[in-house]
Amino acid sequence: MSFRLTYATMYNPPEAMHERFEAALARVSAGLGVRHDLFIDGADRDAALYSDRRAPFDNALHLGSFAQASEADADVAMRAAQAAYPAWRATPVAERARLIRRVGDLLEERVYDIAAALVLEVGKNRMEALGEAQETVDFFHHYADDFESHAGYAHVLPDDPIDGVASHNASVMRPHGVWVVIAPFNFPLALAGGPTAAALVTGNTVVLKGASDTPWAARLLADCIRDAGLPPGVFNCLSGSGRETGEALAQHPLTAGITFTGSVAVGRHLMRQMAGGAWPRPCIAEMGGKNPCIVTERANLDDAAAGIVRSAYGMSGQKCSALSRLYVHDSVADALIERLRQQIAAIRLGDPRLREHWMGPVMNATAYGNYRQYIDELQSGGATLLAGGHRLGEGASGPVPLARGYFVEPTLAEVPPDHPLWQQEMFLPILTLHRYRDRDEAMRLANDTTMGLTAGFYGGADEVAWFHEHIEAGVTYANRPQGATTGAWPGYQPFGGWKGSGSTGKAIASFYYLAQYLREQSRTVV
Ligand code: GLU
Repeated sequence: MSFRLTYATMYNPPEAMHERFEAALARVSAGLGVRHDLFIDGADRDAALYSDRRAPFDNALHLGSFAQASEADADVAMRAAQAAYPAWRATPVAERARLIRRVGDLLEERVYDIAAALVLEVGKNRMEALGEAQETVDFFHHYADDFESHAGYAHVLPDDPIDGVASHNASVMRPHGVWVVIAPFNFPLALAGGPTAAALVTGNTVVLKGASDTPWAARLLADCIRDAGLPPGVFNCLSGSGRETGEALAQHPLTAGITFTGSVAVGRHLMRQMAGGAWPRPCIAEMGGKNPCIVTERANLDDAAAGIVRSAYGMSGQKCSALSRLYVHDSVADALIERLRQQIAAIRLGDPRLREHWMGPVMNATAYGNYRQYIDELQSGGATLLAGGHRLGEGASGPVPLARGYFVEPTLAEVPPDHPLWQQEMFLPILTLHRYRDRDEAMRLANDTTMGLTAGFYGGADEVAWFHEHIEAGVTYANRPQGATTGAWPGYQPFGGWKGSGSTGKAIASFYYLAQYLREQSRTVV
């Protein structure tokens, strides 16, 4: 029996789903510790350097050794992609779409094993991991369908008679060339796979670089693409650091476009790189979030508490879409805080391989260190901790394996409105709360950020239009218990940021997304 992951299964998974996941986890765990090469021009390729990856929840667990692509390796991959480009570009739309769907089918066949790898590599819980794997499947199908439904974005335009001579006109959209995809650690499969599917189906060839913390997910995607039978060179996959591998790709003269998901600083750097070179080239940068939620005195507080906890603490707050700023009407603040504290106390934190652990670790030592620093800054800046505030496993007395992983508590703090951390993306399970009296003041504070990715609202049905009209965010959710600011799904919620959160204002899996991978050619023939 196969289960398709939906919101219903995500929050109430059938027992057989757990059984299949656990079988996959055992299978995948038995194969850990091996070497993973680069994938270039249809074949594995050695690198001079390999780097060991360990699980974020247990630093004694060796996941494998991953190739570190040098500048020379990046060059070989770019040349292979460039060589494959003319034939791929000329491949009929239907054939490209068929191959892209085939990748989706293979991902779906392997969805449990891939989810097990995501749990081990990123430390997310099994339902989040299955969700990500299924979302990646859906990206491949969605973009194949979308491109076909647009007939490859080709339009015949009216004839245009000048001096009695008719000219025949058309608009066609054509690919750019070699597209570089740089994926983030938090959705290392979906945000590698989505842009890859988009770039490929539109006729570009791809060099993918997985995030430096999570090279395995990208390599699993590469295996599916190889097995789907895409011609050699059409897709290439590198692992390595941003500083060396990412920079080599960004500076490469054959790079025709980039899709990057990650920090604002790196996104801006890449945009500058792409503005230079022989000519300016497109850069789709999906960057951070500092996502707010407004709760009015007319909100259903049970729905609000459920949605807030899922969005602030799911995946330990390490989603661009995570909720980090909460504005609550003073008259309901105590009642909401009470519900939040109860739900936070019920969160089970620990080894994400175990089904009872909803929250796993944060990604790495830097995030773990940042948590301590932000808690100190909040407290010295006049914040009141309402829940959490500690790292687990600190010191020799910490329980094993908690002491070997990067575990931090889900944290809620009431914070003065002028505290600098209202402005800074922390990428941690830290939610700051402010009580407001005037709704317009809450909206002003919610918009007082350089970011604009997601936003949530809980209030009366007749207040929702006000929220939509005034909030500065690309993805909005009103009165949604399944998530205040998180959980967009391809085909249902286009996902992209305004302001500093996104460079193009066109959302992932939206009607306008694929067009970004194409350039228009107007054709007039007499
Ligand atoms: N698509 C995910 C969501 O809607 C977030 C992706 C991200 O964090 O970059 O929650």
